[in-house]
Amino acid sequence: MSKYKVNGSYTWVDGKIGGCPVEKTSIDIKVWSSSSTDTTMKLEVNSKIAGVVKKMFEDIYNDPSHPVIESIGCFRDSDGYPGHPFGVAIDINPDHNPDTRDYAAPYNPASDPLSMNESHPIVKIIRDKYGWDWGGDWNSKKDYMHFSFWGG
Ligand SMILES: [Zn+2]
Repeated sequence: MSKYKVNGSYTWVDGKIGGCPVEKTSIDIKVWSSSSTDTTMKLEVNSKIAGVVKKMFEDIYNDPSHPVIESIGCFRDSDGYPGHPFGVAIDINPDHNPDTRDYAAPYNPASDPLSMNESHPIVKIIRDKYGWDWGGDWNSKKDYMHFSFWGG
């Protein structure tokens, strides 16, 4: 596994950041699929925030608009953003929510219910209710799929 710098102050080596292991846990979340039936997905997250992530996705599942989640990811051991190696950032529906820096995808929030803008129910819940950062708010570039517990 390669070395990975996080914010210039931590180093990711062999499953540890700054010498501390990142405790991961796998949680099951219920989501609405594109065919309007529900399904269960697995998400690997930092164990310290597993409880809040579960509650967040219960809220999304219980939203009357039944927001569809067809693809989701959290933990990655190397990434341009520090949130993923710590398991505290979540990407949702990347094929409808581009990262203007390095991930091209169609983005049509007016016509595509999977493209998220600031009035989208998933943004309302994760950003407005739980206080996470949303990459759609960034100035230099946009990362519409990206939510993080601590920014970045
Ligand atoms: Zn991301």
